[in-house]
Amino acid sequence: MSGQSTTPVDSQDEEPASALETARRQLDNAAAHVDIDPNIVERLKHPAQVHEVTIPLERDDGTLEAFTGYRAQHDSVRGPYKGGLRFHPEVSRDECVGLSMWMTWKCAVMDLPFGGAKGGVVANPKALSDDEVERLTRRFAQEIRPVVGPTKDIPAPDMGTDAQTMSWFMDAYSMQEGETVPGVVTGKPPVVGGSHGREEAPGRSVALVTREVCDYYGLGLDGTTIAVQGYGSVGANAAELLDEWGASVVAVSDVNGAAYDPDGLDIGSIPAHSERPEAVTEVADNVIPNDELLGLDVDVLIPAAVGNAITADNVDDVDADIVVEGANGPTTAVADRRLAERDIPVVPDILANAGGVTVSYFEWLQDINRRSWSPERVNEELETEMLAAFDRVQEEVDARDLSWREAAYVVALSRVAAAHEKRGVWP
Ligand code: GLU
Repeated sequence: MSGQSTTPVDSQDEEPASALETARRQLDNAAAHVDIDPNIVERLKHPAQVHEVTIPLERDDGTLEAFTGYRAQHDSVRGPYKGGLRFHPEVSRDECVGLSMWMTWKCAVMDLPFGGAKGGVVANPKALSDDEVERLTRRFAQEIRPVVGPTKDIPAPDMGTDAQTMSWFMDAYSMQEGETVPGVVTGKPPVVGGSHGREEAPGRSVALVTREVCDYYGLGLDGTTIAVQGYGSVGANAAELLDEWGASVVAVSDVNGAAYDPDGLDIGSIPAHSERPEAVTEVADNVIPNDELLGLDVDVLIPAAVGNAITADNVDDVDADIVVEGANGPTTAVADRRLAERDIPVVPDILANAGGVTVSYFEWLQDINRRSWSPERVNEELETEMLAAFDRVQEEVDARDLSWREAAYVVALSRVAAAHEKRGVWP
């Protein structure tokens, strides 16, 4: 990686070319607000390692197809690498590196003893049979086995992977190690060492953070209008909880379009992706296109679908008072600046959806201790951790007049930098 140039400051009006460019630009912006050794910033612009593997997969028809897999490990100064594995056709080396940087900040903002990683396979799981996905997962686990482990690097679910994928991964790893090693991945089903509440956790943290930020801006949740883009695990769980807590969820969407009711949707009647995939428009009385959802005049907009959803092209349509990021990287750098210019606060992904990795940490503790926590304990401890992180970020927002993203980065970067300073660089 070294020798590659980073984004020059005068190109801030152009969209970064990749998640890696975005992550580097955000790091530069944050570093300007922290008293930090520039050598440490330089180090943090690069991953410690990126592993690339080929995964030969025997298709159901007997032919062999070679897939490419990655594991990017960004920084481990505060503890083992941690982050998801995605199975998606657009997975790339740079995307994995950018997302691994975000995991470093996400773990640090939550004060978890982990560093950042991300990986994935360039594949469309929807085009593979369940048996093929299982073989792909097991062989990928085998290929990256030397670089993962409960004290080295702990994968988790992300786009295109779920609890079943983690179970296969854990089984393949354990078979080769000759012993059951539940702590090698998190996000497993509870019957094999997974944690209660892990599946709902990213959506739960989005809901908690939405509640807190509404309170900060003097809005009670009661009657607050909310639009949720994306009705996968994050969006559906956030919508369900916010509805339960009295908010008026007026729109939710999936790839086919959005259900919209200005008086508030009956969220219970819309099946989650896990129950019936992509059924939002089938059950809705009133359907609007996805781009109209982004332009609704609501109190809170939650982009919880994919990265790069709010871009230079559609940001001027956004009519919400607050944006809470449910997906990883849903707001591009240029869109983020335009929202800031219009005084629309954006609560960043690294805080808002950090419930996922926080309950992953709880799962890892449960696996090490061979003792499971009740669902109530998980949710209580998650709320405690989320409120502590939110308050810490809010202190920076208030004290230095920073955006929520800058403030979250300042908290995270200060912790990572302090650890690097104490440990020192071994040149
Ligand atoms: N993939 C999730 C994220 O982006 C969870 C990572 C984890 O639990 O390690 O935060």
